[in-house]
Amino acid sequence: MRIFNFSPGPAMLPEPVLREAAAEMLDWHGTGMGVMEMSHRGKEFVSIADKAEADLRALLAIGDDYEVLFLQGGAIGENAIVPMNLFGGHTVADYIHTGEWSKKSIKEAGKYGRVNVAASSEADGFTRIPERSTWRLTPGAAYVHICGNETIGGVEYHWTPDVGGVPLVADMSSHILSRPLPVGKYGVIYAGAQKNIGPAGLTIVIARKDLLDRALPITPSAFHWKEQAAADSMLNTPPTYAIYVAGLVFEWLLAQGGLPAIEQKNIAKAKLLYDCLDGTRFFTSPVRREDRSRMNVPFKLPDPALDEPFLKGAKERGMVQLKGHRSVGGMRASIYNAMPIEGVRALVEWMKEFERKHG
Ligand SMILES: *Cc1c(COP(=O)(O)O)cnc(C)c1O
Repeated sequence: MRIFNFSPGPAMLPEPVLREAAAEMLDWHGTGMGVMEMSHRGKEFVSIADKAEADLRALLAIGDDYEVLFLQGGAIGENAIVPMNLFGGHTVADYIHTGEWSKKSIKEAGKYGRVNVAASSEADGFTRIPERSTWRLTPGAAYVHICGNETIGGVEYHWTPDVGGVPLVADMSSHILSRPLPVGKYGVIYAGAQKNIGPAGLTIVIARKDLLDRALPITPSAFHWKEQAAADSMLNTPPTYAIYVAGLVFEWLLAQGGLPAIEQKNIAKAKLLYDCLDGTRFFTSPVRREDRSRMNVPFKLPDPALDEPFLKGAKERGMVQLKGHRSVGGMRASIYNAMPIEGVRALVEWMKEFERKHG
């Protein structure tokens, strides 16, 4: 029996993907071996990795002037790997501070160079994206870093900041592949896989090729984008099984009509939940309307004492992992690509029932 899992990550995967992976577990395409058992340099796995990259490029319309890297280390690893790869010949990087994940990025980058927090929504409790006109950017900065979707606070950029000639770097761990993306406006995009791509252990980096000459000499080879690009992401053994499952997810997305189609589904799911929140005073959403995340929806009950009964009743109805992050409290529903609209409907029904009982 499958349940509706609202986990922020690792999160639900599409059921057809899990079924296909299960069916191929012992014998991939008549080879007599499973993907986990294959040499990463053998022709079978190379074909899997090549197809995954080609499908990801098709989904996001990634140009030839970008490298696509399949690495390890997660987005927290990239918090260090980004500055190591981009600080060469530069002294300052600008960061936009919008919540818990950008805070971590800022702290880590400070180990490798000077960080300027060019804008912050901390004074507003991280409930919004600071207007572009308020950003105090450094001329000639190494890059400008944003967190595209703050997974904990539920705050998302629904626009792409114009930062002039300075490369824009984005942590898109929790909303990549949720909608079409103007990749060409970014210098570097990175994402851990376990929210919207596939299993934990895979990290995707999409980097403009002309930015690969800036690595600091201390950069470890396994995290050196140019060296990894030259080795087709196989300078070390890549996370082979995670790449394979991510590839199945890419096929699943393409079969549904790609990112424009999944975006429509995500809009419908988010609308259902936010309409419910807006239609009552019992539940409240802290985030400014225009910056609300389509992927992570935090909300509060009128009294924290109601949190446990709400979670318990949700679990009895087949819905789990709705507890909000400890830094925010309340609830959080993560509704990534793989969450079917039926899951959101079930949640909204339970919210209405709970309100009738306790409101
Ligand atoms: C989950 C998440 C991370 C952390 O990813 P790890 O794989 O644990 O390193 C970083 N940034 C964002 C936006 C996230 O959602």
